[in-house]
Amino acid sequence: MKQVHLRLRERPRSYTITIQSGLLEDLPALMAKKWRGCALFIVTDENVEKLYGRNLLLRCIDVGLNASLLFFPAGERSKNFKTIHALQTALLENRVRRDSLIIALGGGVVGDVAGFVAATILRGVKYIHVPTTLLAQVDSSIGGKVGIDHPLGKNLIGAFHQPSAVYVDPLVLKTLPAMEFRNGLSEIVKIAAALDGRLFSSLEKNAPSLSRENASQLMKLIYRAVELKAAIVAKDELESGLRSVLNVGHTIGHALEAATSYKLKHGEAVSIGIAIESRLAQRLGLLSHHERTRILATLTALKLPIRVPPLKRMSKFFTVLSADKKSLGSTIRFSMLAGIGRTAIDVRVSTDHIAQLFDNSND
Ligand code: ADP
Ligand code: ZN
Repeated sequence: MKQVHLRLRERPRSYTITIQSGLLEDLPALMAKKWRGCALFIVTDENVEKLYGRNLLLRCIDVGLNASLLFFPAGERSKNFKTIHALQTALLENRVRRDSLIIALGGGVVGDVAGFVAATILRGVKYIHVPTTLLAQVDSSIGGKVGIDHPLGKNLIGAFHQPSAVYVDPLVLKTLPAMEFRNGLSEIVKIAAALDGRLFSSLEKNAPSLSRENASQLMKLIYRAVELKAAIVAKDELESGLRSVLNVGHTIGHALEAATSYKLKHGEAVSIGIAIESRLAQRLGLLSHHERTRILATLTALKLPIRVPPLKRMSKFFTVLSADKKSLGSTIRFSMLAGIGRTAIDVRVSTDHIAQLFDNSND
């Protein structure tokens, strides 16, 4: 078993991320030790409900816990007020109290939605994360960002609400579709390239053989990625500065997601974002040709895309880019790779400069 302690300035809100193969099996016993007497609400999506949710509920009831299960349709399209309202109604009807606990069992969507419900119901109840996608295990379940989408953009409505604990079981990744697995890998490439040259080298070396089946290899990668993310969140919980290093690949990535009307998955968009931003970083003299080549080769070995798909609406791409929180007039602020394992924050680049990059982006 491995544990990472996320120490926040406000001590009582600190929490532990536990990573262990088979942890889901032990969860009811763990819950019985820590949360007996509280009402537990397992929140999940329809896929994860069938795979793990129903079984978890039964085993919680078996150990004498007062548990119920709530679920909603899987996918990003559920990240809206309708889902939040339906969950809030179900919780209130089932007599949720301030001392109740929400268990977010699922991928990033479940974590964001269940976390947002936890942040708002009765002005906030505690919740724990049991992330079941690689992306959620290494990224979105850590750091307390919760929320939903708005018709005007993704993740525009939300809060910071830290979980009370995170329980990561790499075994659940065995049922994850290959494409969802790759999505998570792109966040690991991001965090390694941004912060840890050694992790990047190990990823580079193991990329061809990396699979959902190789539990010990996965465990090591997940653990290190979690450790890196937790260290950043501990220093900058509310994303007022340092935490923006985690935006590597995301400035271009988010704009690509929007410009393709979200046909690109987040992980794919981030992968292309890393590739394009590396090119920019090289032009700015922050990244060497050799370093950029290593990054592109690793992404490719992990079967992640590095080329921009044909964009019907290039103007949409630039509109989103300029509307980004990180833009200042016609200047976009990037967290830019400055070597492998190093990131420069607040690098300003003009939109003209970015446009030039696209004129011959595929060479
Ligand atoms: P993300 O974690 O990438 O933000 P989602 O929460 O939408 O994305 O999860 C991606 C998809 O994978 C969803 O359809 C979800 O139901 C499904 N899923 C989540 N965890 C598992 C798992 N362990 N096995 C199989 N499918 C899963
Ligand atoms: Zn991301």
